[in-house]
Amino acid sequence: MKFNTDAFCSFIKADIIGNNKSEYIDITNISVDSRSLQNDQHTLFFALKGGNHDGHNYIDELIAKGVRYIVISDGERVSAIPGIFFFKVENTLEALQQSATFHRDSFDLSVVGITGSKGKTVVKEWLNYLLSEDYKIIKSPKSYNSQTGVPLSIFGIEEKHNLGIFEVGISTVGEMDKLVNVVKPSIGIFTAITDEHGEGFTSLEEKVSEKMKLFKDAEVVICEQTPLLLKYISAVTSVYTWSMTDASANVYGQVSNSSLIITVNQTRSATIELPFTDDTSVRNIMTCISTMIYLGYTTEKIASRLRGLYPVELRMQVKNGVNNCTIIDDAYNADYQSLSIALDFLEKHKVNKSKTVILSDMFKSGYEVEEIYAQLRELLVANQITRIIGIGEHISNYLIGMPNTYLYKDTEEFLQKVTVDDFNEETILVKGARGFRFDRIVTMLEKKTHETVLEVNLTALRHNLNFYRSKLKPETKIMVMVKAFGYGNGSYEIAKLLAHENVDYLGVAFADEGIELRKAGVNTKIIVMNPEINAFSAMIAYDLEPEVYSVRELNAFLKVARERNCYEYPIHIKLDTGMHRHGFLTADLDELIDVLRHTNVVEVKSIFSHLSSSDMPEYTDFTLDQMKMFTHNSDKLIEALEISPIRHILNTSGIYSFTEYQFDMVRVGIGLYGVGNNKTEMQQLANVSTLKTCIMQIKEINDADSVGYGRRFRAQGKTRIATVPIGYADGVHRSWGAGVGYVLVNGQKAEIAGSICMDMLMINVTNINCKENDEVIIFGKDLPVTIIADKINTIPYEILTSIALRVKRIFFEE
Ligand SMILES: *Cc1c(COP(=O)(O)O)cnc(C)c1O
Repeated sequence: MKFNTDAFCSFIKADIIGNNKSEYIDITNISVDSRSLQNDQHTLFFALKGGNHDGHNYIDELIAKGVRYIVISDGERVSAIPGIFFFKVENTLEALQQSATFHRDSFDLSVVGITGSKGKTVVKEWLNYLLSEDYKIIKSPKSYNSQTGVPLSIFGIEEKHNLGIFEVGISTVGEMDKLVNVVKPSIGIFTAITDEHGEGFTSLEEKVSEKMKLFKDAEVVICEQTPLLLKYISAVTSVYTWSMTDASANVYGQVSNSSLIITVNQTRSATIELPFTDDTSVRNIMTCISTMIYLGYTTEKIASRLRGLYPVELRMQVKNGVNNCTIIDDAYNADYQSLSIALDFLEKHKVNKSKTVILSDMFKSGYEVEEIYAQLRELLVANQITRIIGIGEHISNYLIGMPNTYLYKDTEEFLQKVTVDDFNEETILVKGARGFRFDRIVTMLEKKTHETVLEVNLTALRHNLNFYRSKLKPETKIMVMVKAFGYGNGSYEIAKLLAHENVDYLGVAFADEGIELRKAGVNTKIIVMNPEINAFSAMIAYDLEPEVYSVRELNAFLKVARERNCYEYPIHIKLDTGMHRHGFLTADLDELIDVLRHTNVVEVKSIFSHLSSSDMPEYTDFTLDQMKMFTHNSDKLIEALEISPIRHILNTSGIYSFTEYQFDMVRVGIGLYGVGNNKTEMQQLANVSTLKTCIMQIKEINDADSVGYGRRFRAQGKTRIATVPIGYADGVHRSWGAGVGYVLVNGQKAEIAGSICMDMLMINVTNINCKENDEVIIFGKDLPVTIIADKINTIPYEILTSIALRVKRIFFEE
């Protein structure tokens, strides 16, 4: 995007700090992420402020990287620097949106805007595929559909494009107004509307009416024929509808075996072979078909294009690889725009120093190959890639001569010539077009474990953190408990994310856990809740701060700290206010004060206590007594020692039910991992962990046959039994078996048949449409750990922390 600085200032209503002469600038990179290695002299950076984040903190770093154009809101935090343009605005997010509008307005292209509760990304990707032969398309990369994602996508529009396909997601009232002008869709698509993520809305109607604002100037909105949608849409513009039940819709579809019988405006009809037959896919296909019919495609053409439709992989996955490598799997996507996102992702998630990329031929709609590869080279250089592996004819031709680059004509040649031992201690991005079948490369590089995985959704984790943050005063600090391997989820990836979200402290149980985090490069302050005396010296070496719960322990710590010449080493005093686990009782305080008064080897950074029953309304009085004792005893320490420490007592359920006792900090644990106290709280949290595996074998057994150890399941009539490779040694409680519990197979409940074995369990799939290799969910969004815990008389904490370490953890962001 090219513009004059003066024109830009007046469009976004900015003042320039300093007295730079007006310039005509050529921006090739719009950035909101200070960590991106793509920030350079052609970058326009927006210093965004979020709850946990402030782009202003990184201005010096950006300038050092060569960035010259920076949009800020805190004018007092910068001073004029010759040659650097600081554009000072009221609100940097709004300026980002206005700049995107500025950019959008300089093109005259048709735009399809997609909104709805789910299916947005799939519909966008499919339409892109289905229409790409006839249009030069710009689309949102990945699921860039937020208040920042939408403007960033819009900046991708260029002269060459004649169709834009953008998805827009919102989470609360008022957000759509800000995005309408950025997108200005001429054709609207409303995918399904559901109650999910409803937290920012008071009703489904409010949600629909807010989303509809996107289409106030659209010529048509394509959607399912439902009374709710029709009511809101026909008030605004014309509607083009589809339905699976109502023959009066513009496009009426009926599934018969694996075909779809289409009736258009109650006359013309065609039979289209379905590439996917599950309900969700069929509905997304109906949306795509209706859009194509609206655009004038014949049903024959639609049928032939649909044949090539593929499953959409919505996200990049981080996987453990061979020889201590980490793999970022983006194996089904070769569009150039998503490459820069993938490279930023690689930089953020790299575990090892070396970065390798494995790329196939790349595509960019409207571009000549020469141009694409010239840009690709620059991008790879800017990202400081250690080793580049190019697979494909074009990439081999155009990357020849680049340093540290290895080229192969196709995936077969790569697989023949390269072995796993060619990779060692590196983070590898695997990104290629579907036809290259890079999934084979991922399979080769992946560490082989059994097929059971615990998927950890880092986006959901961030959502939950923000949920609890939103309940607190802005100045209240947050400590996150990552003890017990991050409640079973994996501590390192989570700690890294939390560090980026500027969490103030991390809490671990034992020194070892803290040391692991330090070794992995986590710099956040860490408190060790169960410090063992023989670990004190290691703790000091790794900057880990002890909880102090007794005078005996304090004296032992002082001894080690003195030997190491510590001065004002941070410690955290634990008061026992009724939990009767660790901590100082009222009677112990004088002795504690006496010891602390006579030393400057340590400094009391915080004073805290722990609630025993914050989740139990019947013990509210007890909890309030704990608060009283905590206030009283911490006051006493503060006065006697003349200190001003951080005070904290609330855990997750405390934050929810006793918000007014947040003091200076809270300690979030289980809530971050998506487990709340009650139904309302649960609905506002996002599911973080999904334990899944797949069916190994299916067999049919006869009436009265038995299944498993002790013959605890007896068939009634012919019965289909599936064997699943997960057992109690993986963390599925044995009491969940033998008729008590169930798993989900293709969304349906399958009862666990007989006793759970050590490494396997059997399920009854007689009435379930499934085959070998189909996915089996042990717990996740649709089968929450809270339900399992209730049924087998334990608590979600135990279920999560019981998942064996042999279960591979996969982390992903949406
Ligand atoms: C584990 C723990 C927490 C977190 O509790 P949740 O109920 O998981 O939020 C807070 N404080 C202390 C001292 C803990 O040990």
